[in-house]
Amino acid sequence: MPERTPYIAANWKMHKTVAEAAAFVDALLPKIAATQHDVVICPPFTALTAVVERRYGTAVKVAAQNMHEDDAGAFTGEISAPMLVELDVEAVVLGHSERRQCFGETDETLARKVPAALAAGLEPILCVGESEEARDAGQTESVLTAQLQADLAAVDSARIAEVVIAYEPIWAIGTGRTATPEQAQETIAFIRDILREHGAAADAVRILYGGSVKPGNAADLLAQADIDGALVGGASLDPRGFAEIVKLTADLIR
Ligand code: PEP
Repeated sequence: MPERTPYIAANWKMHKTVAEAAAFVDALLPKIAATQHDVVICPPFTALTAVVERRYGTAVKVAAQNMHEDDAGAFTGEISAPMLVELDVEAVVLGHSERRQCFGETDETLARKVPAALAAGLEPILCVGESEEARDAGQTESVLTAQLQADLAAVDSARIAEVVIAYEPIWAIGTGRTATPEQAQETIAFIRDILREHGAAADAVRILYGGSVKPGNAADLLAQADIDGALVGGASLDPRGFAEIVKLTADLIR
């Protein structure tokens, strides 16, 4: 089975000014100096450069929280993949449930965004996840299957391992309600099976769990065989708490 390097990402959402982002990175870096695995910070667009400039020479990568699927055009308020690459950004979050729910992100646009990110040299962090109603109705698997099949439809199977998938049940995001380690493992193993059916090297794909991950529950989640890391929202805003999650991931490197 291929090695999957653990991956911990901080999704700051619409938090932190440039000054606050700089202070966060200055506080975080000394705490995670020995880290060998992937640590990714996803600041708002305005703070990307401040984080990029501070992380040179460290293990930290920088991701944007969204991008447009076209390289340029009459799309007021949008940002393209080449613009991110020019800033030395390495990755991009796509399809976060807040973008799907609040800003009308669709599987059709994601089917164009994921290959556009890969073509530009950005690592897509593709978020998928079911609503509470879907889980209660026993539709988790059909929702995830539909999202993955649509969002990855135009990605060559040889490149699927370059996509990071974040399984984020919507009912667990920002609610304090976490999927149990068993629920997360079962669902992420299911996602890996879907990727296998897509003809991909599914054992090489990093699949993260996201949804109210904190220092207190991260170890049990990350100990699961198919969970390769975490996408952390609220708990990533504090450099001490985020550093704790990064450090306990290092202890779990398989
Ligand atoms: C997220 O924003 O992707 C997330 C998982 O948020 P939280 O950790 O706050 O639930």
